[in-house]
Order: sequence, then C-alpha cells, then structure tokens
Amino acid sequence: MRALLLGLDCVPPALAFDRFAEAMPNLSALRARGLSGPLRSVMPPITVPAWACMTSGRDPGELGVYGFRSRPRDRGYDLRLVRSTDLRAKRVWDRLGEVGRSSAALFVPPSSPPTPLRGVMASCFLTPGEGAAWTFPRAKGAEWEARFGAYHADVRAFRAGDLERIFGELHAMTAQHFALARHVWSEDRPDFMAMVEMGPDRLHHAAWDHLDPASPRYVPGTEWEARGRGYYAALDAELGRLLDAVGDAAVIVASDHGARACEGAFAVNDLLRREGWLALRETPSAPRPLREVVDWPRTRAWAEGGYYARVFLNVAGREPEGALPAAQTDRATAELRQLLLAEGPPGTLVASPTELYGEVRGEAPDLLAIFGDLAWRSVGTVGHHAIASRDLPAGVDGANHDWDGVVVMSGGPFGRGAIEASLFDVGRTLLGLFGVEAGPGWRGKDWSETT
Ligand SMILES: [Zn+2]
Repeated sequence: MRALLLGLDCVPPALAFDRFAEAMPNLSALRARGLSGPLRSVMPPITVPAWACMTSGRDPGELGVYGFRSRPRDRGYDLRLVRSTDLRAKRVWDRLGEVGRSSAALFVPPSSPPTPLRGVMASCFLTPGEGAAWTFPRAKGAEWEARFGAYHADVRAFRAGDLERIFGELHAMTAQHFALARHVWSEDRPDFMAMVEMGPDRLHHAAWDHLDPASPRYVPGTEWEARGRGYYAALDAELGRLLDAVGDAAVIVASDHGARACEGAFAVNDLLRREGWLALRETPSAPRPLREVVDWPRTRAWAEGGYYARVFLNVAGREPEGALPAAQTDRATAELRQLLLAEGPPGTLVASPTELYGEVRGEAPDLLAIFGDLAWRSVGTVGHHAIASRDLPAGVDGANHDWDGVVVMSGGPFGRGAIEASLFDVGRTLLGLFGVEAGPGWRGKDWSETT
C-alpha cells in the first residue's frame, strides 16, 4: 500500500467543483471514481493550525496553535511565527515511522525548521529564506536545488497588486513543487507522501475580486479572471502528471479551508478603544499598527486581527504591563463577549477556548471572534474612521477564508459517492489506510473503513 495526500491550500468547492470544474478534468475524473465533497475546517480556519490539526488529529487548543503567529511563553505582547517544533503532538508521518513505514512530507505547514522523520521532508512556506535549512536530511536540499533550482517556498509580496509578477511566481513555484514531488515519489519511494501547494491561496489573496462574481468589488471579464482559471487548469495538469506517477496508490486531495469574498473590515481595536478597554498614547490620523501607539498600562483588553480576532485581556500579574485585576477576568470576558456580539455584523461568533477545544495549551486568547460568519475581516490596526466599514483598508485583500475546503478520496479501499467530511478525517483515514491504530485523542473518522 502506498498513499498520497495532495493538499491544495484554500480551495473552495465553489471553484474546484463548480465554476472551474471544466478547467480541472483530472480532478473531476478523480471525483467520479472516488468519494468527494466539502471538507469542514477548524476554528480558526487558518492555514497553520488547519494543516497542523489535519496531520496530527488534535485541535488548535490541544496543539496550542491559534494562528500563524503565537504569543511568547512569557506572555509578552509581540507575536512570533509558529515553528514546527512548537507542535508536540505526533503527526501522520511520525506514527507511520513508528511502524516502519517511510514518508515524504513536502511543504506541509508548519514544517519550518524541517524535523527528523523516517523519510524526507521539505519545509513549508514559512521557510525563512536563503541559507535556511529547508530539508531533512539536510543534504537533500542541495541535491534538490541542483535538480530543480533554488527553492520557491512562497510567492513574495502576494498582496502587492503587481499581478503579472505574482502570476509568474505562482506558476514557477507550483511547477517546481510538483516536479519535486514526482521525483521524490519515484526516487525515494516513500510509502506515504504528503504535499501541500500554497499556490491557490496566494492566487486568491492576490486576485479574488477578479475571480468571484459574488465579491462586491467584482469586475467581470478581466484578463485576470481568465488567468486565474488558467492557474487552476495548470494546477490540474500538475495533478494529472502526479496521478500518472503514483499509479494505483490511494489518493486524498484536501484543502485546509475555503475562500469567499471579504465584505468588510471590522476594526476591533477601535471598538475596544471606544468602549474604554484599550488606551492609546496618541490619536492616530490614519490606521497604525497597534503596538506603535498602544498605552499598555492603561489597556485592559486588545485584539489581534486577521480572518478572526484573538481578544486578550491585559491581566495584572499575567501580562508584563497588565492593567486588569486578575479577580475581574471572568466579568471582563463576559462583558467583552456581549460587546462583540452586539457590535459585530450578523453571524458574528464569539467563544472562549475552553468552549471550543478539548484542552487549552500555549498562550491562548481569552476570546475568539469571527465576524459575520467569516464574511468580515478583523483588522488589528487602530485609527480607522469607522468600526465596521465596507471599504477595505490598505493591506486587506478581497478574499477571506471560509469554513469549507474540498476533499476527494480515491483508489485503495475508497468507494464512490458524495460525502461531507471534517479536516480531522483526513489524518485519521491516512492512518487507517496503513492499518495504524489512531489511539486515544486522535480526532476524526476513518473513511477507509466505511466504504
Ligand atoms: Zn490555508
């Protein structure tokens, strides 16, 4: 038994299974002979926690990973990028290695720095750049770069708006990743290979308003709409070549989350300031990063922006310059929850980590808030003219993440038909394919057993 997991970051059913399906004959054929449907992401539906959960069977609280960045262990205010070594849970390739199976883990977030496994690894889009180790074993990096050129971990500055340059980098990155994957599959011969392609996510964040008629900023029929469809066609052609290489292996194609049009920006820190939770040293004349102007000793709560808001209490004795007495944390949490629900657009969801997760590790936020069921983006900068605005501020692109990605499971023991699956099912099913007992705490359903 050999198996392939092809991760396509940020691909929603509305594109891969519908509007762009004709541009994806290989994916459509794979669907026709397997199981397929929407794949429910996690809360929060963000790349790093989502792939970490899919490949470890643990939820974001159990992993202590709540976004791309984490607060430091001392609960200081500055965030740092998540590192692969932050994850203490075993991932699919670790479990397979324990039973003597080899794996290739290519570009699967978070995998920087690359970590030892029974097999080979190429680190993900968080690879810090030239000179950084990006492979395990380390010598593979030089070998692969001699064959495939300097490693393209990501598209640079994909929100910069120069679409000609961005499309060039997208196609080059995707072609390199798939060429490397085909090479590894046939030369290293892993029992299991996982590969994650970030290209669709970068396309969406660069050009969503050209691709989606439901976007309030949609301009129909531009060159970039055709070129976006062309990127999906190129992705599908790469899928076809990879499927030819893997032959009769079991194949899972999965996305960590979907994408949808961003309808507006919610300036959560301006709301906290208006309501007296957050204090600034000066009043900005234009939006500024919070840390440039915040007055920590007079701030009782602040939020990090992104597709969702992480709201933190600034607790005396817990945070370095905490202002909220520890005895008031429960009352403050309840008041902030009411405030966010009252002021957020319809469909706003506010929850505490203990309500969402089986365990709460790491530097968890005190509340997590999704605005307008992911139609609205949370902005962390402060000094906006309005708390809720349909005019997107600089730096906010037209694509938001959405709850549902796609999944296709084909070959091996898989039957055919429409399914609705959870992101956790993917890792669980991969273990099932190799007859590995998931063990206690590993979430999800094994679709290799049920068909
Ligand atoms: Zn993603």
